[in-house]
Amino acid sequence: RESKGKLPRYPGLERYTLIEKMGDGAFSNVYRAKDSEGQHGEVAIKVVRKFEMNSTQRANILKEVQIMRNLDHPNIVQLIEFSESKQYYYIVLELCPGGELFHQIVRLTYFSEDLSRHVIKQVADSLLYLHEEAGVVHRDIKPENLLFYPTPFIPSKNPKPKQPGDEDKEDEGEFVKGKGSGGIGLVKIADFGLSKVIWDHQTMTPCGTVGYTAPEIVRDERYSKSVDMWALGCVLYTLLCGFPPFYDESIQVLTEKVARGQYTFLSPWWDEISKSAQDLVSHLLTVDPEKRYDIQQFLDHPWIRQSDEPTYSAA
Ligand code: ADP
Ligand code: MG
Repeated sequence: RESKGKLPRYPGLERYTLIEKMGDGAFSNVYRAKDSEGQHGEVAIKVVRKFEMNSTQRANILKEVQIMRNLDHPNIVQLIEFSESKQYYYIVLELCPGGELFHQIVRLTYFSEDLSRHVIKQVADSLLYLHEEAGVVHRDIKPENLLFYPTPFIPSKNPKPKQPGDEDKEDEGEFVKGKGSGGIGLVKIADFGLSKVIWDHQTMTPCGTVGYTAPEIVRDERYSKSVDMWALGCVLYTLLCGFPPFYDESIQVLTEKVARGQYTFLSPWWDEISKSAQDLVSHLLTVDPEKRYDIQQFLDHPWIRQSDEPTYSAA
């Protein structure tokens, strides 16, 4: 991580004080920052290097922002404001202080079924909103683009006296709302850089048409939603066992495996995971998009419904 002294200053972004770099991409750096006018508190700012981009790439950033403007859901990172200077775009976002879910999988090796359900339900709630209300497909659902708020940590009431050598040991306190929350509270989808509008939010009609929609457009729409459902299956598989369903060092072999839907519930890692969880995963990792579960079928599955644990709030 960059130190405080090395953080750059950006023209037109004077209102915000950068605190640390949180992530980066091909054309962007994401910073944690403080709003000096105090209105928004801490925020995340995606600074995009416009000067390195061609006109198509610039148009894609504007599209990303335009899509985010129309979204409003507790499990989707909120756009706060957008501005630009000559050389940069500034996308100011709600800060998710926990960072990427990806790092939590690395930290915990894998998630319990309860924690996996807690997480995937929230991702699914945001997909229900995107697919059925906003008319948007995300198209880049993966653990790096799933961010979270940590649950409050309650230090133990009677901490054991520290022994020499215990300095680095974590306090044995508990994360609020116990049962497998693992410190992960509210989960949010980020990064609409690849997402697409499938129907018009205002007119509630398929994009660009009023009643003359060709069957292939309707089919394309269903097809593109199913892309998110496949990715949801990959995420759920990964949460439960700690490694992805499809992997190979060779891109060619990997592509073949995905095309054929060649994955297994690998022993011994899957031995203790319930048949119900496996059943749900297999309905998502179904090669035929017509047979693959849609978001409503996903939410109705017994494994999802078996525990109606309340959702953790950001507060
Ligand atoms: P890219 O298109 O380059 O992948 P993202 O929008 O995914 O850009 O942001 C890159 C990374 O920055 C994320 O994976 C995450 O680590 C971090 N990040 C982005 N937005 C936020 C946010 N609102 N809160 C916390 N971290 C964020
Ligand atoms: Mg990303």
